[in-house]
Amino acid sequence: MNPSRRSFLRGRSERGGMLARPPWSLPEALFTELCTRCGDCIEHCDAKILHKGDGGFPKISFDSNGCSFCKKCVQVCKSGALSSAVTPWQLKAVIGSACLARNKVICRTCGERCEAGALSFRPTQGGVATPQLDLNLCTGCGACVADCPGHAISLSDNFEEVFA
Ligand code: SF4
Ligand code: SF4
Ligand code: SF4
Repeated sequence: MNPSRRSFLRGRSERGGMLARPPWSLPEALFTELCTRCGDCIEHCDAKILHKGDGGFPKISFDSNGCSFCKKCVQVCKSGALSSAVTPWQLKAVIGSACLARNKVICRTCGERCEAGALSFRPTQGGVATPQLDLNLCTGCGACVADCPGHAISLSDNFEEVFA
């Protein structure tokens, strides 16, 4: 994967410097060159996950919702900064060490929220069942990021991190 396409999307704790653009964004340098900051994608995102970020460029936040991949953002973008000619982001969920279930607190919130069926819960010997991610089923929608009470889930296209 081209490192310039690498982006890391975090839920409530987005950290400085990370990129969080709409799903059909061109690579960052081209995106910022073409995007006119008109805000049309933000206005038409029914999921309300697009917001004005640094410099007025749209960025994603999974604070309250995930992406439905409805494509409205790319359909209304006149500048070409979003383009259906490129593949949408190739992100997968990463469940971090703050996961409540991994810390022996019963929680299945992410599994209940995942419409793709990518999260199942495997019993641990004498402990609390923990979430297991099926990477083939995960669409990278971010719905689990929004709902995780432990703020433990991020999305990444860094596959070293995904497989860690
Ligand atoms: S695909 Fe739909 S839900 Fe996802 S960011 Fe674009 S407009 Fe919003
Ligand atoms: S619709 Fe396109 S040009 Fe307008 S803010 Fe969104 S990405 Fe930028
Ligand atoms: S990102 Fe979406 S598809 Fe992937 S595990 Fe989370 S809710 Fe399921």
